[in-house]
Amino acid sequence: MLAKSRGLYVHVPFCARKCGYCSFYSVIPCGGDVAAWLGALEREAGGYLHGHKLRIDTLYIGGGTPTALTLPQWLELIRILQRCFDLSALTEATSEANPNSLTPEHVAFFRDNGFTRISLGVQSLNDAELLTLGRIHDSRSALRAMELVSSSGLNLSCDLIFAIPGQTLRTWDRSLRQVMELAGHVSCYQLTLEPDAPMWEEYGGDDLNTAGYKFYRYAQYILPRHGYVQYEVSNFAQPGHECRHNMLYWDHSDVAALGPSAVSYLDGVRYSNPRTLREYISGIEPECEELPPRERAIELSILSLRTKWGISRAELLPEIEAAISQMPPDLFVFTPERIALSKRGMRLGNAIWSELIGL
Ligand code: SF4
Repeated sequence: MLAKSRGLYVHVPFCARKCGYCSFYSVIPCGGDVAAWLGALEREAGGYLHGHKLRIDTLYIGGGTPTALTLPQWLELIRILQRCFDLSALTEATSEANPNSLTPEHVAFFRDNGFTRISLGVQSLNDAELLTLGRIHDSRSALRAMELVSSSGLNLSCDLIFAIPGQTLRTWDRSLRQVMELAGHVSCYQLTLEPDAPMWEEYGGDDLNTAGYKFYRYAQYILPRHGYVQYEVSNFAQPGHECRHNMLYWDHSDVAALGPSAVSYLDGVRYSNPRTLREYISGIEPECEELPPRERAIELSILSLRTKWGISRAELLPEIEAAISQMPPDLFVFTPERIALSKRGMRLGNAIWSELIGL
């Protein structure tokens, strides 16, 4: 694991349209929504100024759709962050982007303002699958956006979804292979549907977990054959392309998070911002939760076990070690110092977490 650092996350809660599977918080902006969000963001960011600016190591702008912001809105966002935080020693700065709204001007802006990587919501390179997901882009615009980022010299990460109704191993293989041509980092997520997602009505009854197993297994086979290391349950990277910011979450390091529905974790305390834009703009305070030491240790074990580094035996609670010893040994890789999940263990991660959460 990398040495402990501090991250800053900004939630951009705007999307041009709601995707069929989405349960993240976002709205279609109207009127002065973006200006009001920026105003509230400046107030929240200003709360971190206590005579000095907090030094930030990794910056992640997520959403929602950060590329729904225009360049003047991006300039204002960066001005706010620079006024309130010390960004002079950033080791990584990422923005998420939607293939449909990412422009050459956005890419030039990211390159000129210290961004190092773009995480592109490709999801699939099959038009029928994109349609099923209710995405606003097609495979052509996704390939165009991938080229745009890749030719700019910024690191490209692509998100892909598996277990899409109608998806086959052949279409999954094609999406993976096309993404591997340009991206140093690939995130593979199984389609999951919450009852509030638009696709729920049609597909909510499908057993997506069972449907997803073969796709996940195939990703675990093909990506390493092309030089990608599975460094976390959902994430594969060529050496040096791991997302440092995400590693902070798996390590229980401090992350300050701004925006509606954003969750900060600072000195062992979790701060959950109000979920909606209206509540956020009106200045409702975040909810605070101080995790008791035992809960914190269980949570850290589960998060650490998500990664290829696993957990140090020295940090392991005896009851977690006992629970692991009752599970099939081929789910784990044991060394004298650490315990990590095997490839098979990563495939069965959900079952393992639910055993450990119940302790
Ligand atoms: S772009 Fe992302 S956040 Fe926006 S609706 Fe689609 S899945 Fe949700």
